[in-house]
Amino acid sequence: MEETKFIWMDGKLVPWQDAKIHILTHSLHYGSAVFEGIRFYEANNKPAVFKLEEHVKRLFKSAEAFGAKIPFSEQEISQAILNTIKENNITSGYIRPLVYFGYGKMGLGVKDAKVNVSIAVWPWGSYLGEKAVRVKTSSFIRIHPKSSIMEAKISGHYANSILASEETHAQGFDEALLLDSEGKIAEGPGENFFIVKNNKLLTPKKGTILPGITRNSIIQLAKDMNIEVIEKDLTLEEVYSADEAFFTGTAAEVTIIESIDNKQIGSKERPISEKLKSTFLDIVHGKNPKYKDWLTEII
Ligand code: PMP
Repeated sequence: MEETKFIWMDGKLVPWQDAKIHILTHSLHYGSAVFEGIRFYEANNKPAVFKLEEHVKRLFKSAEAFGAKIPFSEQEISQAILNTIKENNITSGYIRPLVYFGYGKMGLGVKDAKVNVSIAVWPWGSYLGEKAVRVKTSSFIRIHPKSSIMEAKISGHYANSILASEETHAQGFDEALLLDSEGKIAEGPGENFFIVKNNKLLTPKKGTILPGITRNSIIQLAKDMNIEVIEKDLTLEEVYSADEAFFTGTAAEVTIIESIDNKQIGSKERPISEKLKSTFLDIVHGKNPKYKDWLTEII
């Protein structure tokens, strides 16, 4: 990863190399941190953060899952994110706010445990590459919604994501697709999933997924283009016979899917996915005034 100058830790910018924590940090042992992934883009010659408010709100909602009280307000965290980008003097990249239980308490109880917050930013290009990706369904099922709080972006959930990703990469594929306990489609390890069938956009309903901010944005864009959007359970059979398929996520943006389990999805013509992808990329780069509210410029 590309280093930048400063990382914000509990209210102060510290040099990248000095952004260290104690080995007995609670969240390192138990996966009890919550975090965000946010992107900022160069838009009209300035860095601009995509959907800053939604991401900060989700961070605070995620922290509530553990009853963690973030010792800053939403406004203070938003401002800290903007300042961290500015002080690092980079025009585009990825933002990683992390809320974690720090040093001082071991064992599973987190009541009264110290809550720390950090914000790192670094340049990060395309996550899954520019080309359409080859996907494989994982033998690991997505975490059961009754096993956790799926709306929360809890670091421990990513053990499931890492297992699925590593398995899939070892088999020579680009990305995993996780099913739920009933065999319905859930999501990618770090992405939401969509198909296009008969000019309609279909995506797994909320429940077993992290309801992504990019997912929401794509649903809204599709509706604004008069494309019908259906949120429902999807089977693998429906997916194999789809006309188009793609992933969405902050890191993955809109990543078109070439094949799933070695079955080619549709043809090489993917008009709806391509249109949604190019509209999304125009918006994040400040080229679509209709959606300028989705960006927070850094001045
Ligand atoms: N699902 C999972 C498991 C994720 O980690 C992510 C990335 N945050 C997403 C979906 C997509 O969410 P978003 O569009 O908010 O980045």
